[in-house]
This record gives sequence, structure tokens and C-alpha cells, in this order.
Amino acid sequence: MKYLLLSVAIVLSALVSAQSVNYEATRKASASIEDKVIEWRHHLHENPELSNREFETAKYVEKHLKALGMEVRTGVAYTGVIGILKGDKPGGVIALRADMDALPVIEKVDLPYASKVKTTYLGKDVGVMHACGHDTHVAMLMGAAEILSARKAEIAGTVVFIFQPAEEGAPKEEGGGAKMIVEEGIFDDYKIETAFGIHINSQTPVGQVNYKPGGAMAASNPFKITVKGKQAHGSAPWASVDPVVAAAQIILGLQTIVSRQMDLTREPVVITVGKIEGGVRNNIIPNEVTMIGTIRTLDRKMKAEVFERIKKTATSIAESSGAEAIVEIQDGTLITYNDPEITRRLMPAVVATAGEDNVNLVRPITGAEDFSYYAAKVPSLFVFLGGMDPAMNRADAPGHHTPDFRVDDRGLRLGVEIYTNIALDYLSGRTK
Ligand SMILES: [Zn+2]
Ligand SMILES: [Zn+2]
Repeated sequence: MKYLLLSVAIVLSALVSAQSVNYEATRKASASIEDKVIEWRHHLHENPELSNREFETAKYVEKHLKALGMEVRTGVAYTGVIGILKGDKPGGVIALRADMDALPVIEKVDLPYASKVKTTYLGKDVGVMHACGHDTHVAMLMGAAEILSARKAEIAGTVVFIFQPAEEGAPKEEGGGAKMIVEEGIFDDYKIETAFGIHINSQTPVGQVNYKPGGAMAASNPFKITVKGKQAHGSAPWASVDPVVAAAQIILGLQTIVSRQMDLTREPVVITVGKIEGGVRNNIIPNEVTMIGTIRTLDRKMKAEVFERIKKTATSIAESSGAEAIVEIQDGTLITYNDPEITRRLMPAVVATAGEDNVNLVRPITGAEDFSYYAAKVPSLFVFLGGMDPAMNRADAPGHHTPDFRVDDRGLRLGVEIYTNIALDYLSGRTK
């Protein structure tokens, strides 16, 4: 119901704000550069680079932004490129973000611009592929940069273009991505008020936009539980404190946190144990078992609560058998939180661009996205853009991070327009 009211409000305000930005000019401009944007995307797709190794991608972006006459900052969070476009009139500051990195996946798509790039990753020979579609993000934002640069006279304020490295996760010892962009002070340096991001989606038809106010993508927190017992002969369990049985009880106990203790009508919670390790042979009860897993949450309060409950459940179950459980919950990606007020303010531009029938309220995604660090810094909005051939069946469309992943080029133009219109609309101040 809350969503229904919100969507009614968005449609109504779309009608009001549709007057304030020249959407027709954007449509014409995006049509005239569409072929170029697709060409850029093919080039980037054919030349993918892993996280924090986006050297050539960064140069490609830098060259484009400089050719547009933009102030450009490079080497941000290793390979990030920031373009600063100052409008002719003073006003607010909005950041538009595209991530640039690819994944260690061997491409298995029959395309003339398919990646043939090989490299090593964690000591293994791997292929490199834009298997999450970040190539489309870069190309679309380069397109928006070109359109907005030509319309400086219309802009009251500043557009900051963030071409970000390492969304998929930087090599452990390096750090990077959105977290580092924020830590390096980009948001403070340019007084960024709000950030907007798009993720292409390979299972949503071209022309469609999906969004969700509030928690849109989950916080992801890895955890490790070490259960310490007492070793004994497998034939004499009474002489042991068996960490294997305690670990089994803990795994089931963790699932009852989700099913019996969290209010799932608010937001979903996921606790997954992905690996369990202990013991060496059939007739020895080991003295220790470790398990690792991931926690996904979409609400800050629920996140804190689930952390507490995991600690309590694991330690109490272990204690009941005389064992000890040590719970370590690590920092991970934050909740990608679409601020309700900024969502209300920015969505009308998306609705006016894509068409009312093509904008859908969707369920949250339990995957994580490092755009969340921007969303934690300033009120932000992150939406999903259709990249699936509309003639295709959703069930047959390959998912992200798979060797078969593909994005239909026809989806890019709408992304260029949305980036452009969001900036123009926000800075026009009329929706304030
Ligand atoms: Zn991605
Ligand atoms: Zn991804």
C-alpha cells in the first residue's frame, strides 16, 4: 500500500516536473549519439579489465571527458576517473556513477566483440569478461557526459561524473571501489548532494526500469564461526566435546533466526553457511570446526539485530554442549538504500523519460552493490535498467556473472537519457 501511494505520488509529480526539463532535446541528442555509444560499449566489452586494473578503460574515459572540455581528475581510488561539469549558472551538485570493472569469467557468447582477454587471478589462468554489464554503464555515462556538456547553458550547478573502479571487489590487500572514493574525499571536495546510479539487468526487457525505495540491495557481511571442543576417539564421544555436532546444531539454529525471530514482513534476511570444515578421518572427533558464510540484510536495524542474534545463538548452543563458539562478523558492503525523499524527487524524471508504463516497483535484491557507500554518504538513488532482448524469454536470459551473460545494445539509449535527465531535472531545482 505504501508503495502504491508512493507510485501514485511519483506519477503525479512526473506530470508536474515534465515541464521543467526539455526531454525532447535529450531524446534527439541520444538518438544522434546512439551508434557511438554502442561502439564505445563494444570496444569496452572487447577489452575488459579486472577490478583495480582498469588502466586502459580509465584512459578511454579520460580522453573522452577531456575532449568534451571537462575538468578531469584521474587516479582516484587507483584507476577512477572523475569529470566535473560546471553549468553556466550556480546551483546544486549531483554525482552520476558508472562502475568500470569486469570479472574473471571466460566469455562464451557468440558476438563479434566478445572478449578474448586472458589473465591470471589469484594464481589461476582466467578469462576476463564484462559479465555484469559495467561496460554498458561506462558507455551510457560517456554518452550522458557528451549530451550534458553541450547543454551547459541549461545547467544550474555541477554534475560530477564518477567512473569508479572495483565494484566487484578489489584484491583484498588493496581495497578500493566506492568505499575508497568516499574515503578519498570526493564527496566533500565537490560538495556532492546526491548520487545517482544505474545497473543494467540482463533479465529485464529493454525499455523497462525497475526501482525500489528504501533498501534496494542488501548489505553483505561475511562471517566466520569457530567451534572449539575437545578431541577424542570416534568410538568414545562421551570423552569428547564434539564440535561437529555442535556446529550442526548451530547451522540449524541460525536458520531459525531467519524463520522464527526476524520480522520478515519488514524486509527479508538471509543467513547462508557456505563452507564447513573440521576433522581429518572417520574415527576421530576433532577439537575444532570452522564455518563461513554470508549475511544479507536490507534494513539497518534488522542488520544490527541479526548480528546480535547470530552471536547469541552460536555461543549459547556451543555452551550447552560444553563447547565454545567464536563468532566473527566482518565488514562488507552496506545496504544500497534509496532515500525515500530523493527517490520521490528523482523518479519523476525517470518516469518522464522511460514512460509511465515502463517503470516498475520491484522487490529488493539480496545481492550487494558498492554504490551503497555513496548512499550512506548522501541521499541517493539506484535503479535497474532493462538489457534483455524483448523477444527473449526471461527464464532463458542468462544471469549476471555467467559466461553466457549478454546485454542487448538497444537498452543503452534509455540509460543515456535517464542519466542526462536526472541531472538536468535535479539541478533545474524545480522539483526541489
Ligand atoms: Zn554489477
Ligand atoms: Zn556484478
